[in-house]
Amino acid sequence: MSETIFDKIIRKEIPADIVYEDDLALAFKDINPQAPVHILVIPKKPIPQLSEANDDDQALLGHLLLTVKKVATEAGLSNGYRVVINSGSDGGQTVYHLHLHILGDRQMNWPPG
Ligand code: AMP
Repeated sequence: MSETIFDKIIRKEIPADIVYEDDLALAFKDINPQAPVHILVIPKKPIPQLSEANDDDQALLGHLLLTVKKVATEAGLSNGYRVVINSGSDGGQTVYHLHLHILGDRQMNWPPG
């Protein structure tokens, strides 16, 4: 399994604007924000993409969603927000370490691009 830049962020080898951390997850601001609030929530376990998660990851995946809720609340997104997981090339994924995008503080449109 190849390393990504997110592994280096987890190990604090490169800087990131970290907003939340626990034993299982890390959240940090996206370096190229697509909304006034754009935060990534990642598992510390290096799951490359959602399609490669397995049944053993059930609790971890639930933890990531509850982490999204916690981080979004702390970011003040009381009017709502969007959560995005890009999986694989057709999904537009560029970093192959599972991550959940939290986008907020502006009106989102549908369908997404
Ligand atoms: P995706 O296209 O879903 O794989 O999203 C990858 C995201 O990671 C993009 O929104 C990038 O802007 C973001 N990103 C890449 N490198 C960094 C970094 N060093 N720190 C924070 N965000 C990053």
